[in-house]
Amino acid sequence: MSTTSSTSGSTTGTALPLDATTSSAATARAVLDAHFPHGLGSFVDGRVAVGRGESVVLTSSATGERFAEYADAGAEGADSVLASAVRGAEVWAATDPFERAAILREVARTVAAHAEELAVLESATTGKPLRDTRVEAAKVSEMFGYYAGWADKILGHTIPVPGNWHTYTERVPWGVVVAVTPWNAPLFTGGWNSAAPLAAGNAVVVKPSEFTPASTVRLAQLAHQAGLPDGVFNVATGLGGTVGASLTADRRVGKVSFIGSVGTGRRVAVAAAAAGIPAVLELGGKSANIVFADADLDRAADGAISAIFSGAGQSCVAGSRLLVERSVHAEFVATVAERAARLRLGDPLDPATEVGPIITPSQYDTVTSLIEAGVAGGARRVTGDRLPDRLTGSGLAGGRWVPPTLLDGVTPANPLETTEVFGPVVGADAFDTEAEAIARANATDFGLAGAVWTGDVARAHHVARAVRAGTFWINSYKTIHVAVPFGGFGDSGHGRSSGPGVLDEYTQTKAVWTPTRAAGAPFPSLSY
Ligand code: NAD
Repeated sequence: MSTTSSTSGSTTGTALPLDATTSSAATARAVLDAHFPHGLGSFVDGRVAVGRGESVVLTSSATGERFAEYADAGAEGADSVLASAVRGAEVWAATDPFERAAILREVARTVAAHAEELAVLESATTGKPLRDTRVEAAKVSEMFGYYAGWADKILGHTIPVPGNWHTYTERVPWGVVVAVTPWNAPLFTGGWNSAAPLAAGNAVVVKPSEFTPASTVRLAQLAHQAGLPDGVFNVATGLGGTVGASLTADRRVGKVSFIGSVGTGRRVAVAAAAAGIPAVLELGGKSANIVFADADLDRAADGAISAIFSGAGQSCVAGSRLLVERSVHAEFVATVAERAARLRLGDPLDPATEVGPIITPSQYDTVTSLIEAGVAGGARRVTGDRLPDRLTGSGLAGGRWVPPTLLDGVTPANPLETTEVFGPVVGADAFDTEAEAIARANATDFGLAGAVWTGDVARAHHVARAVRAGTFWINSYKTIHVAVPFGGFGDSGHGRSSGPGVLDEYTQTKAVWTPTRAAGAPFPSLSY
């Protein structure tokens, strides 16, 4: 490809240091080198292609050390990746759907067989705890298995119309689907937004965040190794303003899916629309977790912890607002704070670690300044004022750590009521009535997720119906599954990215008409 200075033909990678147990620049480098001995780059035409653009430096979120750099693929790299994807799309669309299903099943098996490697790679390069990345790697296998099941079941209709016609529809792939993904769950979102378009017969180009590209490139290598033809699963590595902007406004692209922030999502949708390309947007959230006094409060407290502190709050569906009925508010908040303070922060490669660091430097600054803004806005910090000694006295002291933080008294006027933090920070407040709780939950421009905890079934369903959100949990939080539609209302985006319906997002309908009798008026009443 024209923008590459060197290439590596390796599609299998080499054995990883799976025994890596300590995050350090040396470990992250070793893990990267094991897979990408010639350097990190795009995955195009079935091989890794190192870019030629600006250098992108990666620093460990766990230690603050610099561990790698790679070259942005740039606009030229995006062009080459798209050329590969256009060729791949033709081959893939012409492949028998039963063959496509068999290959995707093999991708699922291959990802499962390499799940531990993928988890270690993800943890070493992002700082996400291994206990989370292991689940995410298994989920990616599940995504390919699920959509493999649909690949040979994408059906059209026969449609009765007046007169002598046989009329039917077919679902036709768009061709090339570009999936832009964020840094908080690169492997997971890379699988989430590629398995369905592939099952529908498209080629994909995933553009991972510049901060966390490695696991997506590795996923593409494994998919290729499992049998996906050259050019069917591509990855374009580099900056949003160069590679991302080029990919999402190129008329060779049939559809864009974007996961990321509201501002960037809007920019991407506008640029895509100007080129005539439709876009699915999965954006941020400010989800309310509503706890009534009649709930199982012990379970609700654990649910509230997992809602906000898993992934260190770097989750679009994080339960970042905790609304608690006034009669139990003080005790409930104290319980959550006390359990939050016991969460284990530590080395991401230690399987016992529950909460990791903040993945990007600028997000660390955002989180710490929003905590200050919340306090300045009148909230009281109940927990989260210091990091554990175990951490500050270790090799992790230079990392981007934020303790699990609970601020109480986050009233509607507080900036934390409506601003997405995307970190381990929950804002709590008391409410008096069900109507007030619903109004508070809906008083943001977001509409991604939410939950209610109550022992009253009727109330649970009433609140579930009244809160404006794409996903809502009753007496639970945060479970999602590839079989279930996921997406947002309002500023949280539009379109859905999972479930059977998403196959409609990744195909277009073609209607075919044929007369069943040669005689008679050829173009009578139904002509347009
Ligand atoms: P971001 O918007 O900064 O970046 C997302 C992606 O867009 C990155 O790959 C980036 O390189 C790319 N990009 C940047 N500028 C671009 C441009 N001009 N053209 C094309 N691509 C461009 O978001 P982030 O900081 O990586 O992720 C955090 C955000 O993502 C949070 O708001 C979070 O809520 C959201 N998120 C949403 C979901 C969801 O499913 N709803 C899931 C995960 C994260």
